[in-house]
This record gives sequence, structure tokens and C-alpha cells, in this order.
Amino acid sequence: MKREVTKTYTCPMHTEVVSDHEGVCPKCKAQLVVDRRGSKQAIKEYTCTMHPDEYSSKPGKCPICNKPLVKVKS
Ligand SMILES: [Zn+2]
Ligand SMILES: [Zn+2]
Repeated sequence: MKREVTKTYTCPMHTEVVSDHEGVCPKCKAQLVVDRRGSKQAIKEYTCTMHPDEYSSKPGKCPICNKPLVKVKS
């Protein structure tokens, strides 16, 4: 099973700017920085109740215990 670990990049000045690759902000031309929090929030939508380290952006099964992943409430 493939887990999505896509990094996202954002502008420090414009957090609404999100990119999946390095580059510059289209608004202020600043270098985009890795958005760790944003990417983790975006990806961690479904998780295993027994194994919180296992998570996915899509419904599925835990690769460790094979239980269905449950939706994370934020
Ligand atoms: Zn910007
Ligand atoms: Zn599990």
C-alpha cells in the first residue's frame, strides 16, 4: 500500500498559497517554504484507532492490523 507523503510548500506571507513543488509565491515572489503543518493536516484525514501513526488522505485499511481507517475529527 502506498502512503501519501507529499510535501507542500507555502509562502510565509500568504498562507493561502499552496504548491506541491518548490517555487516562488505568485503574489510576492518570495521563495516558498515547506509547509509541514499544512501537509500533515491535509493528509491525516483517516487514521487507525489502534495505530495513530498510520494515516491516509483516503479511506482504507490499517497496514498493521487491517482495521478500517476512521475519519479524523479536527
Ligand atoms: Zn507571498
Ligand atoms: Zn492499526
